Amino acid sequence: MTNSIERKPHAVLIPFPVQGHINPMLKLAKLLHLRGFHITFVNTEYNHKRLLKSRGANFFDGFTDFTFETIPDGLTPMDGDVTQDIPSLFHSVMNNIHIFFAELVARLRESAIAGLVPPITCLVSDCYMPFTIQAAEQHSLPILLFCPTSACTLLSVLHTRTLIEKDLIPLKDESYLRNGYLDTKVDCIPGLHNLRLKDLCDLILTTDRNDIMLEFLIHVADRVHRASAIVFNTFNELESDVLQALSSMLPSLYTIGPLPSLLNKTGPNHLASLDSNLWKQDTKCLEWLESKEPESVVYVNFGSITVMTPEQLLEFAWGLANSKKPFLWIIRPDLVTGGSVVLSSEFVNEIVDRGLIASWCPQEKVLNHPSISGFLTHCGWNSTTESICAGVPMLCWPFFADQPTNGRFICNEWEIGAEIDPNVKRNEVEKLVNELMVGEMGKNMRQNAMELKKKAEENTSLRGCSYMNFDKVIKEVLLKEY
Ligand code: UDP
Repeated sequence: MTNSIERKPHAVLIPFPVQGHINPMLKLAKLLHLRGFHITFVNTEYNHKRLLKSRGANFFDGFTDFTFETIPDGLTPMDGDVTQDIPSLFHSVMNNIHIFFAELVARLRESAIAGLVPPITCLVSDCYMPFTIQAAEQHSLPILLFCPTSACTLLSVLHTRTLIEKDLIPLKDESYLRNGYLDTKVDCIPGLHNLRLKDLCDLILTTDRNDIMLEFLIHVADRVHRASAIVFNTFNELESDVLQALSSMLPSLYTIGPLPSLLNKTGPNHLASLDSNLWKQDTKCLEWLESKEPESVVYVNFGSITVMTPEQLLEFAWGLANSKKPFLWIIRPDLVTGGSVVLSSEFVNEIVDRGLIASWCPQEKVLNHPSISGFLTHCGWNSTTESICAGVPMLCWPFFADQPTNGRFICNEWEIGAEIDPNVKRNEVEKLVNELMVGEMGKNMRQNAMELKKKAEENTSLRGCSYMNFDKVIKEVLLKEY
């Protein structure tokens, strides 16, 4: 082993194995690599195979001091997309994966003794993979948790037991999902204001006290405080009350977001070509955007997990078509439940001059394209932060997990978006798209989005709060004992 390898601190990073957690963790890995860390990035075997398929067999070779390792996901082989089977993943995180991770850490320690890699100096783990805390404790390593969801979501997750104690959950029976009960105001979580039950992480809205989702959230809530520190992909002004409340519940807490902006500001990056798309990107949409007027196109994308019924797809389709506005719509092959996506030739003829449908795109590039004027989104936290970084206002159709909370903040706190009814109808889509693109409401939301973009940039600039926090977390946590 050369001296230069020997001197490097070695961080092992592991995301929860779904697209929306892998992407920001890879950004964090790149940022640490740029600060001189040797990186081991851990994917599940299933996801690694998909990445190789979408990016080519040699994609991960040849990056100096940046290596990829894999572990099994602990699930029995299944048809369909494992990254969309959240209950099974939760079960495996609580019961299986820790064994494979412990084996990997042991293997890496042997490699270090053999002089093949630098000794592991810290673990950086998704906070929704809390078994890593035990591994860190066992080997006396500092462990930094990374929260890939919004801080407001983690705050509500940490209060799952409070909600049970207050008898707000579990729901008495299924009728409580429809009888107005979910409009109940939640006033027992300090730091969260003006939220209703239906705005909280919807994984808690179960009738079963032993539901796997509820069990998982409690499992996470009971463990995160044992970490050395936790970092958030957010910035102070965006979630200040929430962060204040969290700081009394967690170990050292650092805001280092938005990560897209922090990474862009960190200078030339020889890892720029390294991405983590589980689907093959269709880049033709960027050429198509070039042919469009500035700020004229609605971008529609529901992320990697959201699914909808064929009827909902049709309502979106005709709402977009009837709005007469140009749109770029990303339809994953598995977006529609119970079958493949079918759009009539009547619809295809109607949109031929102004609509483009693709299957997966370079979202950050799309959002930052001058032709984009608005984003119809499912409100995943990455989509939300990427939209804020681009100063693009949103139409919100949250699907599950943290998305209802993000949607509520987007529309009510930050006023950079408007909500589409869960029971989507084409007339509403048409009306909201027009308001977003040419209405007074859209103008105000765009202005607010531009202001947040500016704040995001200030936070991630040299001497900005997120920028300095990133320095601090390296010194105070990751290199403390180094
Ligand atoms: N994404 C992408 N291309 C697409 C759709 C999504 O690159 O066509 C990326 C997007 O930029 C984001 C992630 O996939 O980084 C989706 O994460 P998010 O938290 O928004 O939603 P999730 O997929 O977890 O529901």
